[in-house]
Amino acid sequence: MSMNVLTSTLAVSALLMSQLVLPPGVYGHAETVRSEPRMDWRGASPVQKQFMHSVYQGHVYRSAQRGTFVGDVASSRLARIEKQHQAQIEAAKACQELLKAARADLAQQKPEQAIQLDIEYVSIISAYRSASQQFFKWQTNFPSYYRQTRPQRSAVPGGEHGTAAVQFMIQYIGRRLAAPGYSLHNSGLAVDFGTKEGGRNLTPDTSSANVRHWRGSWLFHWLSANASRFGYYQNTSIDEPWHWEYEKVTR
Ligand SMILES: [Zn+2]
Repeated sequence: MSMNVLTSTLAVSALLMSQLVLPPGVYGHAETVRSEPRMDWRGASPVQKQFMHSVYQGHVYRSAQRGTFVGDVASSRLARIEKQHQAQIEAAKACQELLKAARADLAQQKPEQAIQLDIEYVSIISAYRSASQQFFKWQTNFPSYYRQTRPQRSAVPGGEHGTAAVQFMIQYIGRRLAAPGYSLHNSGLAVDFGTKEGGRNLTPDTSSANVRHWRGSWLFHWLSANASRFGYYQNTSIDEPWHWEYEKVTR
């Protein structure tokens, strides 16, 4: 990465973070628009962009009432799990041990159940991501959430961009993606696993078919039986069988 790109990337993050760390009380009414991170939605109309901003503000506000904002974690507190995936040092070490044990158990079981299991890999899809990355993920995912919810939004009082539609959208996104700074991925304490079983890639995808296949997978059963030995637990408030959280360190 060239120095210029690096400098401008850091500047963008710093800008985003300085705006994101505003305490919830600051998210007033008239001031709110000015203090928003620069949000982009290519090709959207002014009405759609305003709707996106309202949903974002509401999502952040709701998250701030329920949790504590976590800014980007210092690189000295992070360690590599494998490939490009990182977590807080202790969580990363525990996750490496967990993966090693899962793969060893799988290798042992394979000869006798090879045909039934047909598992090609056990891996990590996503671990630590900074609050800034979470913001971009939120922004990138928004247009598809918008499309997916059109029928429901159109049916509520006030129409597809009204106050009720904003509230509906906040709930819809809240079940799928945390607001920037309010995900345990942002703290470096959450891991999304991935696997391929029976020719099917099981990823962090909230479609009901994927969730169902995930729950029936060898890896999910293995994690349910063994992850706690490594300090990893499911977050039962969300229906994401791939998402496991490390609970041994103070958050
Ligand atoms: Zn996750």
